[in-house]
Amino acid sequence: MAAEDAKFIRDKVMAHNKWFEECIPMIASENLMSPLAKEMLISDFADRYAEGLPGKRYYQGNIYVDQVELKAIELAKKVFKADFADVRPISGTVANMAVLFAFANPGDTITTCALAQGAHISTCEFGAFGQRGVNSVNYPFNVEDMNLDVDGTIKLLKQVKPKIAQFGLSVFLFPPPLKELQDTFNEVGCLVWEDCAHVLGLVAGGQFHDPLREGVNIVSSSTHKTFPGPNHGMILGQNLTDEQEKKVQKAVFPGVTSSHHLHAMAALGITLAEMDVFGKEYAAQACKNARALGEALYELGVPVLCPDLGFTRSHAIAVDVSQFGGGKDCAQLLEDANIICNKNMLPSDTSSVRPSGLRLGSQEMTRLGMKESEMKEVASLIARVVKKKEDPKKVKEDVKELKKQFATIQYCFNAGEPAYGYHRLVE
Ligand SMILES: *Cc1c(COP(=O)(O)O)cnc(C)c1O
Repeated sequence: MAAEDAKFIRDKVMAHNKWFEECIPMIASENLMSPLAKEMLISDFADRYAEGLPGKRYYQGNIYVDQVELKAIELAKKVFKADFADVRPISGTVANMAVLFAFANPGDTITTCALAQGAHISTCEFGAFGQRGVNSVNYPFNVEDMNLDVDGTIKLLKQVKPKIAQFGLSVFLFPPPLKELQDTFNEVGCLVWEDCAHVLGLVAGGQFHDPLREGVNIVSSSTHKTFPGPNHGMILGQNLTDEQEKKVQKAVFPGVTSSHHLHAMAALGITLAEMDVFGKEYAAQACKNARALGEALYELGVPVLCPDLGFTRSHAIAVDVSQFGGGKDCAQLLEDANIICNKNMLPSDTSSVRPSGLRLGSQEMTRLGMKESEMKEVASLIARVVKKKEDPKKVKEDVKELKKQFATIQYCFNAGEPAYGYHRLVE
């Protein structure tokens, strides 16, 4: 019986793999790892512990783990031109918790973006921020530009004098206006923190914006969204004092992790090395593709937010499907056609269960080699399902046909290898 249960699970995982091979995945927070990075996940690192820092571990057996961690830190500093990096947080949320543990006490005030305007749940009242007991105050938001209202934000910062000004979104179309806020940060004397989970790969490739050059002291992030690494996290710092750096390290361990998932850390190191070489080309293409997708959908009569601003400067676009049955139904129809995306609240929405939007990301299909012309094809497939209400099963056949031509991974050392193949540790 137990063997059958194991077989059941393996069969389902294999079925999922096969399904995704035939899908166009457009969830803006997902990506495909490179074959070399993926191989690290089945190494013996997966079975080990390495509490503490390289050279100062609580366990024996970390000779090679230490070398890998030091190399990953060195690469992170290089790729992001940061003067501090901690590669141990095991996810973006855990990285956020570590920053909170390091710099915020219950009762402190942190200014943040609001959930309805695209913030992540971890930075909201009922997420990690609220559970840490911090008092979070939301910036005013300009729906037209899908960005912060600069004058209102300056006023708010001066008024509440936060300990930390925090930025970052999960529907992250345009960079935050940090340059315009710089003087106010200095006047208020707050720490500036950006959660770059969605856009880390773009930042690594010199797109979107460069937070550490725009006054940000602390970047927290996931490493598996536009940054095509393992499910893991990372913290970067700039102009922190030694004491602040130590606070971050202590908050990561023993604050919010014990094991830091050594296999994922090794995979992160490999992805950093690959982004150092291929990041620029990949990030530029992902941004061009998102814009092309927005343009094509808009021309096909599917409303995309911010047409006057070129739809987006990131990998993501926000689509208003309220006139086509809403986000929930449209996302389901698209899944029936093997186009995978998620329903999303738009700033005017009040219900997160029946929102009027879809969020679409270009990054994963960019990794598989799609360019602007293929984005037009994808837009047409989406419009056939969402607007023309063609039978999704029929559209699915065309989706599979298109996907067949994009079955290998690009922008990495083993470019051209099958994206959904098996990656074994062999010499
Ligand atoms: C996805 C996301 C996170 C959480 O990342 P996990 O790695 O899933 O914990 C945090 N912040 C933002 C802005 C995100 O988009």
